[in-house]
Amino acid sequence: DDFVINGQKIWTSTADRADMCFLLVRTEPDAPKHKGISYVLVPMDTAGIEVQPLRTMSGNLGENSFNQVFFTDVRVPKTNVVAGRGLGWTVANTTLKHERNSLNANPEGTLLKVRDLMQRETINGVAAIESPIYRDRLMKLQARALTMKTHGMRMLTCSLKGESPGVAGLVSKLQNCQINFDMATLALDVLGELGVLYEHTKYERARAYWQTHSMFSLGLIIGGGTAQIQKNIISERGLGMPREPKPAQGK
Ligand SMILES: Cc1cc2nc3c(=O)[nH]c(=O)nc-3n(C[C@H](O)[C@H](O)[C@H](O)COP(=O)(O)OP(=O)(O)OC[C@H]3O[C@@H](n4cnc5c(N)ncnc54)[C@H](O)[C@@H]3O)c2cc1C
Repeated sequence: DDFVINGQKIWTSTADRADMCFLLVRTEPDAPKHKGISYVLVPMDTAGIEVQPLRTMSGNLGENSFNQVFFTDVRVPKTNVVAGRGLGWTVANTTLKHERNSLNANPEGTLLKVRDLMQRETINGVAAIESPIYRDRLMKLQARALTMKTHGMRMLTCSLKGESPGVAGLVSKLQNCQINFDMATLALDVLGELGVLYEHTKYERARAYWQTHSMFSLGLIIGGGTAQIQKNIISERGLGMPREPKPAQGK
């Protein structure tokens, strides 16, 4: 009546706080690759689950809730399978679609923060916002951020009408995560040598917000599917371009 699950998973956000997790487990070893996986719900207090916090470049051990999780003879009732055995890949793609939408923070708020920073910080005695080079970078980011704001409204309209946004829906995570990182990069450039301070010294700005935001937003370009994978999905599923070769097809 139960599955017995063994394995490990690294990079599991908030596993140390979670009550439940979902696992993609191979339950049909003889089925073709994508048809042999099931999507199983597992309470985190099940015997055999061990959560180990990770130290990362944006936080000390346990600080940013990033973990690796080990599963040793974890017993899960077969009734915990979502949708049906072997249908895990389809369910996972739906979950990923929602995850990517949730990672797609609108960058307009960050843009205003960069603008405020550029009004406050000076370079050679002049406010950074007066520098043609930095202002040009800010304007380009503003154009991209406002484009994505309008794009977000288009997505909302689609959703309210119950329509599928098609390829337009695939663009949001790719673009917004990159814009957020590019804004943090501009902020760090404006801060110059102050942008490398971390230890809460008197010269540090906003308790190292931009330093942390830069690394966190870089992580979000990877988390939930990397930018390169997003581009593959857009070209193959969205634009109908030829699929990339799959050397392991059918295995
Ligand atoms: C902040 C953050 C939070 C995360 N949270 C979670 C979580 O909660 N749960 C969870 O399960 N995982 C989580 N992850 C893991 C994340 O989903 C993976 O790191 C991500 O999907 C990339 O997979 P990978 O690390 O195996 O990289 P790989 O697949 O090994 O990729 C390595 C590099 O090769 C490139 N690449 C790979 N395949 C192709 C291809 N076909 N074409 C072109 N380029 C390719 C990638 O773009 C990347 O640059 C998180 C990661 C981060 C950074």
